[in-house]
Amino acid sequence: MYTDSELLALSGLQHIAYCERQWALIHIEQIWSDSGDTARGNAFHTRVDIPGYSGTHGVRAERSPRLVSYRLGIAGVADIVEYRVGDSFSVMPVEYKVGKPKVEDWDRLQVAAQAMCLEEMEGVIVKQGALFYGETRRREVIEIDKALRTRVEVLSGRMHELAASGMTPQAVRSSKCRRCSLKDDCLPAAAENSASTYWHDVGGVEDWV
Ligand code: SF4
Repeated sequence: MYTDSELLALSGLQHIAYCERQWALIHIEQIWSDSGDTARGNAFHTRVDIPGYSGTHGVRAERSPRLVSYRLGIAGVADIVEYRVGDSFSVMPVEYKVGKPKVEDWDRLQVAAQAMCLEEMEGVIVKQGALFYGETRRREVIEIDKALRTRVEVLSGRMHELAASGMTPQAVRSSKCRRCSLKDDCLPAAAENSASTYWHDVGGVEDWV
């Protein structure tokens, strides 16, 4: 079990799932670029991130609860946790995203991690979570299955390994670099490893603007 001082940001799971170097730049080197997407996301979240409760039709919704797992060593703030009472009791984290559903499981990992925190905190089994996307105005219900749980455990462990080492991994060229909010900060280090090869492999500078 980790201690309070060892806890890492739950939100970092999305970053490390995207790119280990991106996670290290943000969470070790404290670099953050407010790209258009992240700025829009922050504005979207300010409408959700007002702590409090509301309840209707057997569902009690808690806004902005702090979640923690000492087993995984992660902590964060959920957008909403819904408690359903009635024939059976259930707990469900709900995360709001500004965009639309993604093929990759980055958003689902965040919700799965929130579910695992709730299980540890509340002593319940959390079978489902949900993502609400601003672009589609739709809720996507997620099964918190074994594959997602295993991925959260592996990535949480990797965050702690990197945090303990204090080392930022080298840039690994991939198509993800084109959409990376930290591509400008990553550029100098990448350039040291052969700029022309790097930019050619990720699509060229002119494609990024
Ligand atoms: S530009 Fe590429 S290598 Fe650098 S942090 Fe972003 S995704 Fe990772």
